[in-house]
Amino acid sequence: METLPGKEGLTILRRLIAYAEKIFQFSATVVAGVVDRRRQPRIPASRVVKSVAVLFWTRMGSLNALELAAHSRFFRRWLGQPVCSADSVGRVTAMMDAEGLRRGIHHIYDRLKRNKVLPDHCGLAVAVLDGHESHASYRRHCPGCLERTIHADKTERTQYYHRQVTLMLLPGARPGCDPIRLLLDHEPQRAGEDEVATALRLLERVLGSYPRGFDLLLADALYSTAPLFNFLLSRGKDVLTVLKDDRRNLYQDATALFAAFPPTEGSFRSRKCLWWDFPGLLSWPQVHAPVRVIRSQETRTVRRQLDGNDETLTSDWIWVTTLPAPSVSTGRAVALGHQRWDIENHGFNELVNGWHADHLYKHDPDAIECFLLIAFLACNIFQAFFALNLKPQIRKGRTRAFWSSLMAAEILDGVNPAISP
Ligand SMILES: [Zn+2]
Repeated sequence: METLPGKEGLTILRRLIAYAEKIFQFSATVVAGVVDRRRQPRIPASRVVKSVAVLFWTRMGSLNALELAAHSRFFRRWLGQPVCSADSVGRVTAMMDAEGLRRGIHHIYDRLKRNKVLPDHCGLAVAVLDGHESHASYRRHCPGCLERTIHADKTERTQYYHRQVTLMLLPGARPGCDPIRLLLDHEPQRAGEDEVATALRLLERVLGSYPRGFDLLLADALYSTAPLFNFLLSRGKDVLTVLKDDRRNLYQDATALFAAFPPTEGSFRSRKCLWWDFPGLLSWPQVHAPVRVIRSQETRTVRRQLDGNDETLTSDWIWVTTLPAPSVSTGRAVALGHQRWDIENHGFNELVNGWHADHLYKHDPDAIECFLLIAFLACNIFQAFFALNLKPQIRKGRTRAFWSSLMAAEILDGVNPAISP
């Protein structure tokens, strides 16, 4: 087993856990506060949270895989006994108090904030929210499932699925470091409501727990609605969303302005841009403040793999925002607009493809909520460990999947098939 220099004998998973214990008091504070609804629990909920955190860190992908490794020396040392059965892990997680898990995530945020490793973006604390769908199925469903009718080959079938709206913090990067993006909370969408209603419930809770967690919220075009804008304005927050709907007065007015006024030239990353920026627009009267519309027409050159020739690609973005001009410049607002993709690239993609967070560990609405919150906990701790504790020369050239494989190897190394039941 590979050990890391300077920490002889301490392998990577043990080192991650040692870090989580030292910086976040993982056992004593983060998981100790998690309870569940069982009357006389034989297995403490905290032990199940720890087992599931390892399931995510090592990317095992299923409760059966966890059960196969249950008697690893690793678990005996860390939990004081083997992991309970796959059934028990699912059952206990379904009865877990989600608020206890949310408090655990809050504690991690507090510690990182106090350690000054979540800097603002030039004076702005930025968050992004988006919906994510999981577990689509035609056969299995539960009381928390959403339903839709799928038309194919002249037949209609009911499909069941779950969707959550997630909020992610996008702190700035400290010099020479990757930013630590934190998955703060999620809210399950309920039957009969739209995603904006789910988002408002999530924002109400997040702003209650983290009143100063963010100053600016980024979101997709779906969230360009007056209730969301007004809610954030009433809480003293700014918002920036994609503007798409060409039926709106605001969109039509902005389009007329784009045609009437010449753009200014700018750049974003390696792209040449043409920018239009119109603050103080009153053509969205449902919103209780004037809004600002920004358009960025972007051109970049890419080398085609097929024939090695250069190809010019253009993209056209329009955003609507409450960010004040000129204190937040056009270029800065454009960069913020593009940051909306961070929740796809660093949130959902990482969680789903890297961490198997979409896997249906137990088809039960409460279990789905809690497994995802434990995935957030595990992911946030790993992000912090990776950015703050692993030295750049150790991290260099090694993917996160590599570290997860190394951690899984550590668990399996402690399994002795000859003596395990
Ligand atoms: Zn369901």
